[in-house]
Amino acid sequence: MSTSNPSPDPASDWQLPWSGGCRCGQVRLRISAPPLLSMACHCTGCQTMSASAFSLSLAIPSTGFEVVSGEPVVGGLHGEESHHYFCPHCKSWMFTRTEGLDYFVNLRPSMLDEHAWVAPFVETWTDEKLPWAATSAKHSFGALPAMDAFPALIEAYAREAPGPRRRPDQALSAGRRALLQSGAIGMQMSHSKAPVFSSKAPHAG
Ligand SMILES: [Zn+2]
Ligand SMILES: [Zn+2]
Repeated sequence: MSTSNPSPDPASDWQLPWSGGCRCGQVRLRISAPPLLSMACHCTGCQTMSASAFSLSLAIPSTGFEVVSGEPVVGGLHGEESHHYFCPHCKSWMFTRTEGLDYFVNLRPSMLDEHAWVAPFVETWTDEKLPWAATSAKHSFGALPAMDAFPALIEAYAREAPGPRRRPDQALSAGRRALLQSGAIGMQMSHSKAPVFSSKAPHAG
């Protein structure tokens, strides 16, 4: 019997690791490090690629980001600077790597099996946003903030950001909870070509 208290563990505060994947389940991800920042980008490029009003990003330290099945392919701009990665089958835009900024990966947080807790802390390119588009981000920038603005934003995010456990109600749907508890999502990871259950319930959207 030990009398020592368990030391505070940042990973358990964030309920890591997280699993996630694309719409079809062929590419599966494992996240084992707390995010640095969450962002929404309203730029017209993100509007086009997301087929929506803005893209969402969760900056994950590269050391805590792993593709555990499937082979994402480069899509989007195919440029020198930003490398946009997609599922080769369902073409979901999954994550972005930026040349020269190798220490993090910008994950699209809607890839996570549980992502209802994610909210943008920072929003960028509001100069290009759709007139009706609004987010709950605390920090808004007309374009991309200068690089030297990021350390303070990352520090504030670590202090204030809602993690999975800090949400008031853990509103995981009963269906998804059952899937997670049954291990079906684990099965899907090892049989990714023909998922028995999809972690993304099929719906019309
Ligand atoms: Zn896919
Ligand atoms: Zn953008």
